[in-house]
Amino acid sequence: MVDANTAAAGIFDVDGVLLASPHERAWREALPGFADPARFTTALYQAKVAGKPRLAGARAALEALAAPDAAGAAVAYAARKQERLATLIEAGCFTAFPDALRLVMAAAARGWPMAAASSSRNANQMMGLIRVDGGRSLLDLFSANVCGRDLPRGKPDPEIFLLAARDLRISPQRCVVFEDAPVGIEAARAGRMMSIGVARLGGAAPLRAAGADLVVTSLDDVAVGDMTDGWPLRRTT
Ligand SMILES: [Mg+2]
Repeated sequence: MVDANTAAAGIFDVDGVLLASPHERAWREALPGFADPARFTTALYQAKVAGKPRLAGARAALEALAAPDAAGAAVAYAARKQERLATLIEAGCFTAFPDALRLVMAAAARGWPMAAASSSRNANQMMGLIRVDGGRSLLDLFSANVCGRDLPRGKPDPEIFLLAARDLRISPQRCVVFEDAPVGIEAARAGRMMSIGVARLGGAAPLRAAGADLVVTSLDDVAVGDMTDGWPLRRTT
């Protein structure tokens, strides 16, 4: 069944949607002394940590790994992860996903309003270092940017996406959120927004279960050529 919907603006999560960033690696490499790094799988990262503010992510990871005194150890684990992340970013251990660049550049060329919305404070730094064309960086393609704002609640609270919609001056119901984490899809739904789950390496089922309107394995599956009346969004269930 295909039920055509359109949206007036796109809101993009950054880590895992636009950038292959070293967050997961930094969380894993910061684990020795707290829990066994071998048990920190990509599935665990996606289900428990991705999209959450740092301290909440640290605590959720330690709890999922049954580490002793997860709540108490979370502060030190989060601090060590951030140190590791800074080192990895400094070393240039991140890239933009080519399909994401194609979509965002095509949408920007058509003048479509887009916002970047990551809870991570490192998103701006990394996006600013990705060159696209004519001296522009990836960051320059977004008309609104709410990355790294100090917000009291993380996803699945819709606050960050609602802020992005407000900055875009588009009503939430007319925005479509691109997310790779189930918690981000939940946030989009809580904000009454449409959502597209991005499952490049699997993980489609949890995104569907979280309520994504559409799940794709590549952003090349979002047809920019059809954007005469808005972002195309095909509801597949
Ligand atoms: Mg993400």
